[in-house]
This record gives sequence, C-alpha cells and structure tokens, in this order.
Amino acid sequence: MKSPTFTALGGTLGIDFINTMQHHRGQTVNLLNTPDAVVRWLAFIRHAGRLRVASWETLAPGPWPTEGLIRFRRDVRLFLDGGMPRDQFLAMLAQAVAAAPLAFQAVDNAERTQLVAIPTIPGSPGLLSLLAFDWLDLVVSGAVDAVSRCQNGPCLAYFLDPRGRRKWCSMDTCGNRQKNARYYAKANRIDVDGLVRGGNDAETPRVKAAR
Ligand SMILES: [Zn+2]
Repeated sequence: MKSPTFTALGGTLGIDFINTMQHHRGQTVNLLNTPDAVVRWLAFIRHAGRLRVASWETLAPGPWPTEGLIRFRRDVRLFLDGGMPRDQFLAMLAQAVAAAPLAFQAVDNAERTQLVAIPTIPGSPGLLSLLAFDWLDLVVSGAVDAVSRCQNGPCLAYFLDPRGRRKWCSMDTCGNRQKNARYYAKANRIDVDGLVRGGNDAETPRVKAAR
C-alpha cells in the first residue's frame, strides 16, 4: 500500500480536507499533525487548484494551530458516518463561519459567474471558515448526498460521486487492490460453486426419489 500522502481526489476543498486522515498498515494516520504539515497541505491544495490566490494570500501569514482543524475533521466524519444529526452539523458549521467571517467575490468562468468565498482572517480560523462554508454549500445544495466513501474496506477516503458510479478513491491504489482481491476470490469461487452446485444437484433427486 502506498504511504499516506496528500490527495485532491475528493472533488471539493472540504472533502479533500477530511481525506487528510488516512489508513495505512492497520493504523489511522493524521497528515495534519503539526502546523508545518498544515502549511504543506495548503500549498499542495493550492497547487491542485482548490484554493484561490486571494484565499491563499489572506491565509498564508498563519498561525496554524491544529486542534480546531482536527476537531472539525472529526466532526465532519462523524456527520458523514451518521453519528451527528444534521441540525447539529449545520450549527457547528455556522459557528466556524461566524468565528471568522468570509468575504465574497463574483468570479467569471467559462460557463457562469460563480460566487466565491474568500477568508478575511489568516491562519487556521480563516481556513476553518472556508472549509465550513464548503460543507454548508454541500449540505444546502444537497450535493452532500453524493459524498461517498471508498469501497475498499479499511480506506477512509471520501469523494464526490454525483453519478453514483465511482467505487474507489483511486484506481491506482484501492481500485487495484479490490480488483486483485476479487480476482483471487473468483478463482476460488469457481471451485466452491462447482462443489456446492454438484452437491445440490446430486441430492435433490435423491430426496424426491425418497418421497
Ligand atoms: Zn480508497
């Protein structure tokens, strides 16, 4: 299995953020364990195109305490796993935004003009606010229903799957693992099915004959 590393496979900033908690060799790994790690994640996510330059410039000066970010990540995961009621989740998100209010910019792209949230406060509080806004948007728009968890059992990754057809966070890692597992299972099942089917076929007539 690949070593834990930052990913941008979630589909939104908020989903990529909760994927900073990963499974590796039976352990849960927190990729945002230090302020430096948060700075590295931000640089990564900015490079991946999830963070606008204006947001980056506001956030960049820091500081980057990790506690609030990790609590936020835990709460989002709790909500997605069904362990936090929707109202409580929305209240938590609203609180995070209220603690570090956002500014908005209208940004033209190829298809339409989009309203984009920009933090006004640097460091972790500003980032939390931006993340909370992303999750508010996911919940209010209903897109949260399309947030799926990777079907490779131990994998902790979530991603946006609007068409309901994506099974794995990544074909390179979890997809291949599942394919290999299924290949071996299939190879075994051919024998197992053959035996079971043979047994039933042989037994059914005998039972009938006895009646
Ligand atoms: Zn996965």
